[in-house]
Amino acid sequence: MLRTHTCGELRIADINKEVVLSGWVQRIRDKGGLIWIDLRDRYGITQLLLEEGRSDVQLIKQVRELGREFVVQAKGKVIERVSKNPKLATGDIEIDLQQLNVLNASKIPPFTIEDETDGGEELRMKYRYLDLRRNPLKNSLMLRHRLSLETRKYLDSQQFIEIETPYLIKSTPEGARDFVVPSRMNQGEFYALPQSPQTFKQLLMVAGFDRYYQLVKCFRDEDLRADRQPEFTQIDCEMAFVEQEDILNTFEGMIKYLFKEVKGVELPDLPRMSYADAMKRYGSDKPDIRFGMEFVELNDVAQGKGFKVFDEAELVVGINATGCAAYTRKQLDKLTEFVKRPQVGAKGLVYVKYKEDGSFKSSVDKFFTQEMLKSWAEKFHAKAGDLLLVLSGEAEKVRIQLNELRLEMGERLGLRNPDNYKALWVVDFPLLEWDEESGRYHAMHHPFTSPKPEDADMLETDPGKVRANAYDIVINGVEIGGGSIRIHDRDLQRRMFRALGFTEERAQEQFGFLMNAFEYGAPPHGGIALGFDRLAAMFAGKDSIRDFIAFPKNNAGRDVMIDSPSHISNVQLDELGLKVVDKIPGE
Ligand code: ASP
Repeated sequence: MLRTHTCGELRIADINKEVVLSGWVQRIRDKGGLIWIDLRDRYGITQLLLEEGRSDVQLIKQVRELGREFVVQAKGKVIERVSKNPKLATGDIEIDLQQLNVLNASKIPPFTIEDETDGGEELRMKYRYLDLRRNPLKNSLMLRHRLSLETRKYLDSQQFIEIETPYLIKSTPEGARDFVVPSRMNQGEFYALPQSPQTFKQLLMVAGFDRYYQLVKCFRDEDLRADRQPEFTQIDCEMAFVEQEDILNTFEGMIKYLFKEVKGVELPDLPRMSYADAMKRYGSDKPDIRFGMEFVELNDVAQGKGFKVFDEAELVVGINATGCAAYTRKQLDKLTEFVKRPQVGAKGLVYVKYKEDGSFKSSVDKFFTQEMLKSWAEKFHAKAGDLLLVLSGEAEKVRIQLNELRLEMGERLGLRNPDNYKALWVVDFPLLEWDEESGRYHAMHHPFTSPKPEDADMLETDPGKVRANAYDIVINGVEIGGGSIRIHDRDLQRRMFRALGFTEERAQEQFGFLMNAFEYGAPPHGGIALGFDRLAAMFAGKDSIRDFIAFPKNNAGRDVMIDSPSHISNVQLDELGLKVVDKIPGE
């Protein structure tokens, strides 16, 4: 090996050892008489020392020719440092350099390889391998590794086995858009890359594997955001002979185990909240329960008092921003602007200040007496010094708008500390949701999710009312995973496809393989998938998943390092039976 130790390893106990280290030149400080080199590898930094008059003249000359990011092998003796650096694990020692071997030179890197770098996003993406040398990214990937290892340990301890499922599968119309791959051997036909291994894991249950998992790449051709990538990783799991409760307990166990092992955090039991409740209390199916500020409905006290906006609304609902009564005109205008942004879409914002002297000052004083406003305050359990923020409109819409305002207020008031973890299960999702555009019902989770048995009769009569055996795990307002108990009965699956507007033939053509399998002893089963990249980001208290993927795509879905996607040659196109183009751009 080209080293006896790593750059993060040597301590005071190693003094007088002759060692060989290999790594990258992080920094050279040349003070004339003394020269220090910071040598870096994955494990840390070790300081090398040269002293004019004592060190070899040739060696000093050689060191003065080194540049940043040169790869070198350094031989020397471990000595105690005169001025120690408590910030560095190796800070008590340095190496009295005796021999240096340049293993490879380096061009000047396009940005500094430091924790805080001067490189812009696009440049760092182009030179990702240099960016990955920096501690923040290196640590992200190490965290990811730790998380995957502990996930496997936990699932293995629970008798899950990891089975790989194919990446070249069949395109289906449900869900997001597929990435497709043309087939050379079957011209005119296409594989699709899996959006998830959903049907395969169900077939593994039919096959008797009982408990399956896979850390698996999934592909979805959707528009990108900070927390989305066209290819991403799931912890994908399925269990047979279980009910919803068993799955919730198993994966609550996994999340607690991961928090404990990887972060040293003891997560309390996860509360369970129905979808209906979550929408009513927080206006979101992924409520951030790190803080209260729950919705209070005001129809009974706010309507019928002559304020037309409220009188015409289906719902008048608000939140209590505790301690914010002193908000200035300007601050309130800002909040009004916030709710009026197209992304939020409210028409306006009503406020009520519960002043320290016990009186009320509101934006609707014309319509509501002090007495009336007091009755509002009681509903909010508000105290003097609080600020009530109220929206009104169509119930479903106004709840979603108020959710945005609640999160914004939570942010402003510092109630969304990323190191404070609050997880919950959201359960009892609707099975179907109406889609205006296509004029039909869509599966809210996916078409294999089973209805609650007590609701199944409504599948034909009142499909929108049917609740599903589906659940999401939510941490700090982020959906970390979701799953369901599946349909395992051919007839029920057929009814589900019918409710989704599939003809018998199309259902057979698309999913016949699964329905056929259900005729050969399919056990009751269910499962879940957790977004692995997102989980890793959350463990580091970060929003963006990009830093937790070694080689991510940019917002336009491009890999700017390898320059992909790219055109392919006419020879390739021809082989695939695809239309040959006259001239390939750029060729
Ligand atoms: N396959 C589902 C998904 O990707 C998860 C599940 O139902 O297990 O969201």
